[in-house]
Amino acid sequence: MSSMTRREFMAVSAGSLLITSASDSMGRSSNQEKPWYATMRRCGQINFNETDPLTMNPDAWMDYWASLKVNAVLLNGGGIVAFYPTQVPYHHRSEFLGSRDLFGDMVAAARRRGLRVVARMDCNYAYQEALEAHPEWFERNRDGSPRPEPECPWLFKTCMFSTYFTDQMPAIYREINQRYSPDGFFTNGWPSTGPLGVCYCPACQKIYRDETGGVPPEMTDARSPIYRKYYEIYMDRVVQIWKLWDGIAKEKNPESVYVGNLGGGIYTTKDIKRLSEVAAWFNADHQGRSGNSPIWICAQQGRVAQSVMNGRTITNVIGAYSNSQPLWRHTSKPAAEATLWMAQVTASGMVPWYHWLGGSPQDQRWRETGRVFYDWLAANEPHFRNRRSLANLAVLYPQSAIAFYQTQGARERRLNGEVIDPGEFLQGLYHALLEGRFLFDFIHQEGLTPETLRPYRALLIPNAAYLRERECEAIRHYVASGGSLLATFETSRYNEWGERREDFGLTDLFGVHVAGEVVGPHWNSYMHIDRPHAVLKDFAGTTLLPGPEFRVKVNPLNAESLYLSVVPSYPAFPPEMVYPRIRHTQEPAAVFRQLGNARVVYFPGDIARTSWRSGNPDLSRLLINSVRWLLDSQLPVSVQGEGMMELFAWETEPGYALHVLNYTNPHMTKPFVREFYPIGPLHVELKMPGGEHISSAKALRLGRELRFTQGAGRVNFELPTVRDYEVVALSL
Ligand SMILES: [Zn+2]
Repeated sequence: MSSMTRREFMAVSAGSLLITSASDSMGRSSNQEKPWYATMRRCGQINFNETDPLTMNPDAWMDYWASLKVNAVLLNGGGIVAFYPTQVPYHHRSEFLGSRDLFGDMVAAARRRGLRVVARMDCNYAYQEALEAHPEWFERNRDGSPRPEPECPWLFKTCMFSTYFTDQMPAIYREINQRYSPDGFFTNGWPSTGPLGVCYCPACQKIYRDETGGVPPEMTDARSPIYRKYYEIYMDRVVQIWKLWDGIAKEKNPESVYVGNLGGGIYTTKDIKRLSEVAAWFNADHQGRSGNSPIWICAQQGRVAQSVMNGRTITNVIGAYSNSQPLWRHTSKPAAEATLWMAQVTASGMVPWYHWLGGSPQDQRWRETGRVFYDWLAANEPHFRNRRSLANLAVLYPQSAIAFYQTQGARERRLNGEVIDPGEFLQGLYHALLEGRFLFDFIHQEGLTPETLRPYRALLIPNAAYLRERECEAIRHYVASGGSLLATFETSRYNEWGERREDFGLTDLFGVHVAGEVVGPHWNSYMHIDRPHAVLKDFAGTTLLPGPEFRVKVNPLNAESLYLSVVPSYPAFPPEMVYPRIRHTQEPAAVFRQLGNARVVYFPGDIARTSWRSGNPDLSRLLINSVRWLLDSQLPVSVQGEGMMELFAWETEPGYALHVLNYTNPHMTKPFVREFYPIGPLHVELKMPGGEHISSAKALRLGRELRFTQGAGRVNFELPTVRDYEVVALSL
C-alpha cells in the first residue's frame, strides 16, 4: 500500500521537536521561507450569529482585534449560514443579511488594519431546502430519517462521504476565494479527533457493503474486524477531504491554507499522526475545562499536538466565555482561568486563538483579559519563537490505547467489570511529572524512531497496552542504544488493535513474563519493600506501601532481584478481619534493571492510574523516584521552592526561555481558577545545553531583570515570585 509506505517514510523522516520545516544548513530558521501561519504568534475569532448582520460594527470589532496585536482573525464565511451574498444554491444566506455583505465588510476592516483573515466555515449542517434538493448530502439513521441538530432541529447533519464535502463545500470555498481571497479556510467541528460516526445513507451503505464487509458498530469496538476496516476507510476519507480543501484554498492564493478542527486533549480516537501528515496547521479546539478536569489539560493538549507536529504551527482556541458544565456562551469565564489557559497555550509552544461568540456582547469583561495578555505577548514576542524543547524525558503518547483499550462496542470501557477511563494511566504519570518538576515532551507511538528518541535520556510509557511490533522494536532499539525506560501495567501486551500477544511485546526489557490474567480491581492490596533501592529511598518509617488497583500477574523473582513485592488484597471490613492472609510473595510489584547503560523500571500494577484516582502521594513518589533514577539525577532544569507548577524550557531565537505555570490553587483540579496564590522565591539552576554564557536573564511577567550567576555550563538565579505564570528569558 502506498499510504503505508508514505506513513513509514514520514515516521522515519520526522525530527524530534525541532523546527525542521524551514531551516537553512545552519539550522537557523528563516522567516522568509515559512508560510505566513508558521510565524503567526497571536490570533482571534469573533463567531457571528445569524442576527449579527443587523448590528455588527466591523470597525469597532477590528479595532478591538488590532488592539490585541493579532496577526490573523477568523471570521464567519459560510457553510451553515452565509454572511455574504452567496450565489451558491442551497447555501443559506443569513435571514438578516439584507443587502449587507457582513463577511466582506469585516474582511475589509481587518485588512485596513493589516490583519490576515481566515474564513471560518461549518461543513456539518445544512437547511431543509438543501435536504429536499439533495437528499444524498445528509447522514441518515437506520430507518432512513435525517439527523436533525438536537437544539436546532431545522438543521440536518451532512455526511462526509457525500458530495456535500466534494462538491458543495468546494463551490462555497471557490466563491469566497474569488470574492475575498482569504488567507485560509477553517472548518468548525470537522474532522475532530473524537470517535467515528456511523451513517446509514446510501453512500455509506455502499461503502459498508463493498469495503468493510458489514455495518460498523456505532460505538468504538477495536475487536471488530469491520470496525478496523472502517477506521482505515474513515481516515482515508478525512485525509482525502483535507487535501482536496487545502488544494482549493491554494487555487487563488498559493499562500492560503486549509485548517481542520482537531483537539480533544489526550482523548483522541482518530489517528492524529496520520492527520499531521496532511495538516500544515494543527488547530486544537480545546477551549476550556469542566467537571473535575485538572487545570493542566491545556498544556497537555500542547504536548499531544507537538508529538505529531514537530514544531510546525499549532493553535489552541481559548474560550473567553464560560465553557464549563453547565455552559454559558454569552458570559465571561473568570479572568484568572482564561489567563492561565492562555499561559498554558504559550508555555507549551502553541499560538493562542482567543474566541468570543456574538457580535453584540452584553458582557464585555473578557475583552480586557485578552488584551492584557496579548499585549504582554506582543511586547515579548521574540522569546516565544521557539526552536526546540530542552526536555530530556520523553513520554510515549499511547494513542492506540487511548482510542481502543478495552473498547467493546459500549459507551463505557470496562476492565474485569470496572468502568475505566483510558486517560487516567497517562494522567497519573503526568501529575507525578509535574510534582517532580521534570521537563518532558510527548512522542506519539507512531513517531518512535531513533531520530525522534535521540534527544531523550529516558522514555516513559504509561500503559501503552496496544503497540505495533515495529513500535516495540523501536523501544528495544532505544534501550539497546542506552536509553532508559519506565513502563507500567499492560504496556505492549497487545498489538495496536488489542489482539493479545503470548507475552509482553517487551518482555525482554521488563525482565518478567506474563503469568496470568489481570488481577483486580482490588483495594487493600499492598507492596512490600524487600530490599533497599534508590527508587525506594524516601519511605523511611514503613516497609509497606499502598498497592495498585489492578496488576498484571507476572512470574516470581528470586530474592536478589526482588525489591518490592506484591502483598495480595485482603478484606478491608470489618476491622476484625483486616489482616493479610498472605504476608509475603515473590511476585514483583516493581522490576528495576540495569541493561548496559540503560536503566529499566517496570511496574506490573497500574500505579499511575491508582495514584491519580486515590491521590496517594506514595504512588506518585514511586514514579518520581523512578524517573530520577532513570535520569541518574541529570536534570536540565532544577527548581527549588514551594508550590505546584508545570515547567517548559525552550531554545528560542534570542537564547533560552524557562516557563513556569503556577498551579498552586484550590481550583487546580476543578474549575474555575478565580484568583492566584503567588509562589516564590524559587531557586533555579539551568544547564546551558551548549555551555553558553548568557548576557541577561529577564522575568517577562514581572518585567524585571534578574541577578544571576553562571559558570561550569550552568546559570543560577532566584525568581522572587510567580503570580500566575512567569517566563524567564535568557538572552545570549
Ligand atoms: Zn453517509
